[in-house]
Amino acid sequence: MPDQSFDLVIIGGGIVGLSTAMHLTSQFPKLRLLLVEKEDHVGRHQSGHNSGVIHSGIYYKPGSLKAKLCVEGAAAMVEFCRAHDIPCQICGKVITAINEEEVPRLQSLRERGVANGIAGLRLLDREELREIEPHCGGVRWLLVPGTGITDYGAVCEKYADLVTLQGGAISLSTEVTSITRGAGETVVETNRGAFATRFLINCAGLHSDRVSRMAAKKPEVRIVPFRGEYYDLVPERTHLVRGLIYPVPDLRFPFLGVHFTRRITGGVDAGPNAVLAFKREGYRRTDFNLRDTAGTFAYPGFWRMAAKYWQSGAAEFYRSFRKHAFVQALQKLLPDLRSSDLIPDGSGVRAQALRRDGSLVDDFQFVCSDNMLHVWNVPSPAATASLAIGREIARMAQKGFGLGSAQMLGAKPARARS
Ligand SMILES: Cc1cc2nc3c(=O)[nH]c(=O)nc-3n(C[C@H](O)[C@H](O)[C@H](O)COP(=O)(O)OP(=O)(O)OC[C@H]3O[C@@H](n4cnc5c(N)ncnc54)[C@H](O)[C@@H]3O)c2cc1C
Repeated sequence: MPDQSFDLVIIGGGIVGLSTAMHLTSQFPKLRLLLVEKEDHVGRHQSGHNSGVIHSGIYYKPGSLKAKLCVEGAAAMVEFCRAHDIPCQICGKVITAINEEEVPRLQSLRERGVANGIAGLRLLDREELREIEPHCGGVRWLLVPGTGITDYGAVCEKYADLVTLQGGAISLSTEVTSITRGAGETVVETNRGAFATRFLINCAGLHSDRVSRMAAKKPEVRIVPFRGEYYDLVPERTHLVRGLIYPVPDLRFPFLGVHFTRRITGGVDAGPNAVLAFKREGYRRTDFNLRDTAGTFAYPGFWRMAAKYWQSGAAEFYRSFRKHAFVQALQKLLPDLRSSDLIPDGSGVRAQALRRDGSLVDDFQFVCSDNMLHVWNVPSPAATASLAIGREIARMAQKGFGLGSAQMLGAKPARARS
């Protein structure tokens, strides 16, 4: 027998689950909503271990969900931070072509940014660069003035406060262990009891494919964890970077390449790289989980991806174990950098969805069926885009679950958040 009944259960207290809960509790004040999170705090995984960048939306394919939701979400994020006194700064980003071969790609990136509606993009000459990032190397530069930084851990806390203020419930240290679907009702079993619900939204990040499987929805993808390791610039050398310095990315990959990021909490980070992790929530190089590793290696899509990209993967592993290789990659952006300027910092693990054919899912992916909605792929820039993603998932849930027509939920028209 379930211990309690709800209209809707959301699994996952990361930035995506919380934003979704915040939109739904604002829109449907009588909705009996429960968000369950297995950790003792919200935002413990990807949402609390990232670069803290409010991306502009320049990188993403025009017309994609990523492009649309990132551009909308970035503006909303800045507004949200200002409205709720969360530190945020628009410090701008310089994308750097390190040699002449990269210049056409830098120009294409600018065109992509213009197509995505990003204002103020400007190619810089050396004189102009000196004013903005005097220590940056390379041969040509693109200024993205609207890029910012914030603290996504603090954003998660605020989303959680608003969910509870608006009448939603959040249950921490509550891990979903199984899901049983019945007629008109689903029972979510956890380590802290069972909850019956009419609707379910899966925002379980690094575990979203497993939660789908628990709910008898065979995922079309497998989550493969990629760890991103950071170094910190020592305090005496943080003057080398004023804002954000990024390379021209290889658009075949969803990762942006190692870069320099000024932190809103102070200091400058260098990284992250992207190495295959042997544990889904494995933040150290030595972390290993048999189930996670066997799951990755047993998936045909992994070997198809490895056959295509083994050289890039091997280079990332090499850089992970050899500091001098990491430093060399960074010196292309910042020639004055010395190995002694960098000390190891933390890491984050990205949930990257992979298809059976070996292709990496590029765009955000949400799937709604049978009173359930599964969020399968929300990699970067999902923290930036979280307000727009939450609104989009709430819209899909309203349509897919018929929430708007359920009188008991006291539906009121959607309103924009401040
Ligand atoms: C290294 C790194 C750098 C990044 N940099 C940026 C950046 O600068 N800007 C940007 O916009 N984005 C960035 N991102 C991406 C961004 O952080 C993520 O896309 C976003 O945080 C995803 O949020 P989420 O809620 O889906 O996942 P998560 O934050 O991982 O949340 C999922 C939650 O589900 C919970 N959960 C899982 N299984 C269960 C279960 N069975 N029961 C209960 N709870 C469960 C987990 O404990 C977790 O808290 C970065 C990511 C990484 C890893």
